Amino acid sequence: MAQYDYDLFVIGAGSGGVRAARLAAELGAHVGIAEDYRIGGTCVIRGCVPKKLLVYGSRYAGEFEDARGFGWTCEALRFDWPTLIHNVRREVDRLNGAYTRTLEKAGVDRFLTRASLLDRHTVKLAERDETISAKTILIATGSHPFIPDVPGKEYFITSNECFELEELPKSIAIVGAGYIGMEFASIFAGLGVTVTVLHRGDQILRDFDDDLRDGLAAALRNRGVGLRMNADVASIEKEGDGVRINLKQGDCVIADLVMAATGRLPSTMGFGLREAGVELGWNGHIVVDENSKSSVDNIYAVGDVTDRMQLTPVAISEATALAETLFNDTPTSVDYGFIPTAVFSEPEIGTVGFTEQKARDMCRMVDIYKNSFKPLRATVSGRDEKMLMKLVVDGETDKVLGCHVLGHDAAEIVQMAAVALKLGATKAQFDATMALHPTAAEELVTMRQRWEPPAPIAGSDAAA
Ligand code: NDP
Repeated sequence: MAQYDYDLFVIGAGSGGVRAARLAAELGAHVGIAEDYRIGGTCVIRGCVPKKLLVYGSRYAGEFEDARGFGWTCEALRFDWPTLIHNVRREVDRLNGAYTRTLEKAGVDRFLTRASLLDRHTVKLAERDETISAKTILIATGSHPFIPDVPGKEYFITSNECFELEELPKSIAIVGAGYIGMEFASIFAGLGVTVTVLHRGDQILRDFDDDLRDGLAAALRNRGVGLRMNADVASIEKEGDGVRINLKQGDCVIADLVMAATGRLPSTMGFGLREAGVELGWNGHIVVDENSKSSVDNIYAVGDVTDRMQLTPVAISEATALAETLFNDTPTSVDYGFIPTAVFSEPEIGTVGFTEQKARDMCRMVDIYKNSFKPLRATVSGRDEKMLMKLVVDGETDKVLGCHVLGHDAAEIVQMAAVALKLGATKAQFDATMALHPTAAEELVTMRQRWEPPAPIAGSDAAA
């Protein structure tokens, strides 16, 4: 008789947990998984996927505008939020079913309930008397929105609740100018909501390349999105049917809704991790080694619950590597270099590799190639938009260290550029690649002129 009920028990059925459970089962392990919300996790149920569908929905307003220049007359346009959100929820339900069937087909036992650790090998399922034992336990419980601790914080909604809104607000204030802040500001603005972003810093999207940050901020302002920098929330109170957000700077913003887009925290509390001896780090994340092993040697963790990169493909790679290592006798580790990422704002950002600033901090010589231009489509649509392409190059080795794109299809373009950067492509190899004409992406292989910072103006402070 086996010593344990399961070879692997996974807590959390999001992108990482489902991948690890399915692969391990397909490799012959006896696997169980517990989930206390819905199979699919944040990405599928209330993150990347439904968000991207809302992004598509929100972009039609601009598309209809653009269509006029191409001869189309678009009259009596009307947007119906209930139709959009209903259709998005229907797709989420379909995916939830598909993920469930995937687990079922692989022979994974599913428990739709909360699980907690009684010790390093024992799991207790809520509302059940029996306990389950497992040789290996994987924690893949993901993360949840962080809400700033200010008076009136109960008025905050988060991205979670955006998928549950039965009607669109007329106005919304969004606190935070990271991925979620910029994406939801663009979605709401596209759907006609008055948006004000309140950010404590002096520019949006910290850690992104400065040209992307400046370019997106200018484009959002141009679309009528209110971006207030150096704005710290002091408190929130009810005001009529909406809220009043009082700022430490002294004034206030009034809106129908206020949303916290202020980062996400690892979900590690209240299910026995500490008691089982699992070490938690500075923000509650599970401390793991390069093999995703925690401080307890049969307990592993992948995805947002660790302090690595909060991105779905990263969680999936970590889960795949773990299953290969533990159940296929193939030690596998994840390569975190040159991970592409996108902000699905309007306009969109795609980025991979070093920012200009980071390259300057790390390399002795840095060459910059960049161009900001009106995309072909905009010449006829009349839309006031600019596309930005930028390559950051190591001046000594000629290797392309960073690729940054702002504009239509930026994410699609950068996904493919990431292959070249990952392979260590040089600028000369980019230049030797034939352009695909007419596209926006061809700019990446036709930029010959090294960008030089503008010369200081005689008599200015900089020249002094
Ligand atoms: P981000 O870390 O991207 O941004 C958080 C924002 O909130 C920053 O502007 C930050 O300011 C601000 N902030 C943090 N704490 C406070 C506070 N106490 N008071 C006021 N402002 C605060 O987090 P998000 O919530 O936008 O997204 C979470 C993560 O989810 C992302 O990091 C990303 O990894 C992932 N994600 C990825 C997406 C994608 O791939 N397209 C989409 C959505 C999410 P400051 O810069 O000053 O710290």
